[in-house]
Amino acid sequence: MTQLVWLRRDLRLADNPALYHAAKAGPLVCVYVLDEEAPKHHAYGGASRWWLHHSLTSLAKSLEAKGSKLILRRGDAVEEFTKLANEVRAHTVHANAHYEPWWLNAERKLANKLDLQLYHGNYLKPPGSITTGTGGQYKIYTPYSRAVRAAFPPSDELTAPERLEAPANWPASDDLASWNLLPTKPDWSGGMAAFWQVGEEAAHARLKAWEADVDDYDDKRNFPSVDKVSRLSPHLHFGEISPVQIWHRFKHKRSKGWETFEGELIWRDYSQNAILQFPKYATQNYREDFDRFPWRDPATDEAAARDLKAWQQGRTGYPIVDAGMRQLWQTGWMHNRVRMITASFLIKHLLIDWREGEKWFWDTLCDADYASNATNWQWTAGTGVDSNMFSRIMAPLSQSEKFDAARYIRTYVPELKGIDEPYVHDPEEFGRRPAGYPRKIVPHRQARERALAALKTLKDR
Ligand SMILES: Cc1cc2nc3c(=O)[nH]c(=O)nc-3n(C[C@H](O)[C@H](O)[C@H](O)COP(=O)(O)OP(=O)(O)OC[C@H]3O[C@@H](n4cnc5c(N)ncnc54)[C@H](O)[C@@H]3O)c2cc1C
Repeated sequence: MTQLVWLRRDLRLADNPALYHAAKAGPLVCVYVLDEEAPKHHAYGGASRWWLHHSLTSLAKSLEAKGSKLILRRGDAVEEFTKLANEVRAHTVHANAHYEPWWLNAERKLANKLDLQLYHGNYLKPPGSITTGTGGQYKIYTPYSRAVRAAFPPSDELTAPERLEAPANWPASDDLASWNLLPTKPDWSGGMAAFWQVGEEAAHARLKAWEADVDDYDDKRNFPSVDKVSRLSPHLHFGEISPVQIWHRFKHKRSKGWETFEGELIWRDYSQNAILQFPKYATQNYREDFDRFPWRDPATDEAAARDLKAWQQGRTGYPIVDAGMRQLWQTGWMHNRVRMITASFLIKHLLIDWREGEKWFWDTLCDADYASNATNWQWTAGTGVDSNMFSRIMAPLSQSEKFDAARYIRTYVPELKGIDEPYVHDPEEFGRRPAGYPRKIVPHRQARERALAALKTLKDR
């Protein structure tokens, strides 16, 4: 009997349990359904849509090379699979489990209609499977990571199926171009195309190119001017490579660099566990006292709206913040240290609710991930289950000096290209601000005092 394979954020042939088991069971039809309704405000943003287009193109080619095809459908996933099951006379859908609330909901509904076989494929350990001594879920990263490491190794890697048996008849497929995933008016994607290669093969090429840097990861990962982080995040998000494949590649390493890198992969697992426990983590403060926080609201306050726009456009007058926001706009990605600085700046210097930042990152990051984005925004804001304290306010200028961001700033802020160190970190302070570069939208000390005073209102009530 024909098997259906439901692909979502697992756009790869190797180490793909759903595909592997379906291929063993008989002829199969691999399907991607674009459902833009179910995720509501978390339907893919512009940068992710660009990535998805290229990733689906690459996957379709790989499937064709194995004698198969990628069937594209648009609409409600449960309805589409019910139709497809009739069209190809299938009863079983193989899928790797996904944990975003809209996918959990769709999986529950589909399981009531067809034989849904769920596999574990996108995390080091299945989300929800690592429990405390009393059987509860971990809420804090450090004990969680210890428990994950104690439960290693992860599962074995699965090979890509040798060949994929075609069904007697192929069901109809949408034409990818008709989904309009690529920007046209205007086409802002040139910077992304120059920065990224997309697809399973490209993910493995990136891992290979970066492999030699893993030992230096602990020392170098915080320095945005040097290219020493893996940049695997969009590949991991779309499942072009699995964390299990990465783990097996490095498992014999004993370096501090690998240990720290492994810890970051565990942060990814941890974020997914947080979402499983708190499905509304991307839209609701975990710490409810922050529901009363006196944010400046861009919807009602013109100055706040101006500040939000300056942040989005990289025109705050703080070079490290502006470089980060422009890198994001240009490439669809931002270095982690600078994500922390720009996020802290929005929340604490501009006193704007973290959810405005979450939304902007969701639209502009090509690795935008429901779990990782929410967890990191709540961590920075101090509103999360495991988070930094709100009162720890990052000083962007000293961060810029400490992490040697001069070259990074000159790369992404062309107005500051000719400015030497140390002036490039704070040209206004040194009287070196070029005419086209904005003044600081808020002085650091004033912003810090305003943020702490706002925090105090929570404590005084
Ligand atoms: C405000 C904010 C928002 C973020 N939003 C996202 C997001 O939407 N999607 C996303 O994948 N990451 C997000 N991150 C986490 C982190 O910044 C990126 O994963 C990392 O910068 C990606 O670059 P890399 O692949 O070179 O990471 P590396 O440093 O090479 O790390 C390897 C992998 O580990 C995982 N990882 C690393 N750091 C984290 C982390 N803090 N949390 C969860 N996973 C991590 C990623 O999958 C990453 O690819 C966010 C961080 C902040 C501060």
